[in-house]
Amino acid sequence: MPKSRRLLLALLALVLATPFATLADGHEWKTVEGDAFTFTEVRDGVWHAVGGGSTAAGSNGAVVVNERDVLVVDSHMTPTAARAMLADLAKITDRPVRYLINTHFHFDHTHGNEVFGPDVEIVAHEFTYRKVASGDTKRGRGYDGFIGSTPQTVEGMRAKLGELSDEDRTAMEQRIAFMMKVYEESEAVEPKAPTLALRKAVTLHRGGREIRLLYLGRGHTGGDVVVYLPQEKALISGDLLTAGLPYMGDAFVPEWVGTLDEVAALDLEVILPGHGPAYTEVERVEHLQLYLIELWQQAVKLFAAGMSAEEAAATIDLTGHAEHFPQIEGAGAPRHAVDRLWELFEAGYVRPAP
Ligand SMILES: [Zn+2]
Repeated sequence: MPKSRRLLLALLALVLATPFATLADGHEWKTVEGDAFTFTEVRDGVWHAVGGGSTAAGSNGAVVVNERDVLVVDSHMTPTAARAMLADLAKITDRPVRYLINTHFHFDHTHGNEVFGPDVEIVAHEFTYRKVASGDTKRGRGYDGFIGSTPQTVEGMRAKLGELSDEDRTAMEQRIAFMMKVYEESEAVEPKAPTLALRKAVTLHRGGREIRLLYLGRGHTGGDVVVYLPQEKALISGDLLTAGLPYMGDAFVPEWVGTLDEVAALDLEVILPGHGPAYTEVERVEHLQLYLIELWQQAVKLFAAGMSAEEAAATIDLTGHAEHFPQIEGAGAPRHAVDRLWELFEAGYVRPAP
């Protein structure tokens, strides 16, 4: 492991070194610290796998330990991250991984697939299968925005190195080295496609555990699968729900609202999201719905009035939702979200009847 990564992980381990996660109601979940991941046991054998920092893992996954085998949800953004997760997994179980679920096609949830061996069934929605198999995890708005643009971002960072103190410069150089390592590894990935594709739902019965893989409609992407554990009342949501505002660059915003109606209809007590910590405040489903509805309504009007995506991204006002989404600091909407909406409008997208 290069020094920069060791340092980054050591720093993150320090930040994350709490043995228990305390919930809003004072209840505590057990946590187990690995070298790169922290596992939080939200229900017996149901663990949220939280990577050390957004750059290292890219996304949060989950691990369901069954009587004789293990189901893993999402493979993180590089083979290195997936290998680190599997190494850390030994701290919570010695049972073999039998299933890997890809909740959706985004690179930060699929680029570690190749690390899982031939005995592991990789399960995803048919849409996700097509996207991964065709190489679309390495193309498009999301990949280009987060990974493809790294060389330009790094060029900008290098230009500023001369202005920094010795200490800050060293930190920035380590950051650059780490970003370039992730970029080079991402560019080299040949994404391993899912081996089992579903259209609507599959239920696994593993020992006494029931695990439902559900497609509830389009939302964050065109093929989001959630993992629902009815006995545990737990939902592993991928990016259909995150702790804050999810990425919207490949979204079907109005359909997402209806898909979240289906989520809200599940008997639910705890959500393990694809980004951010697990939570028990199920009302957050509705908070996201209200945000998406307002984003959609304002966008429809501004597009009809002939406004460009750039202008609209500055004009749309979602500050009424800042109470639930603290990252909203003023007027405006995320540019990737508005670009996506304009792309849909220009393609003649019609909101399906509810
Ligand atoms: Zn995503």
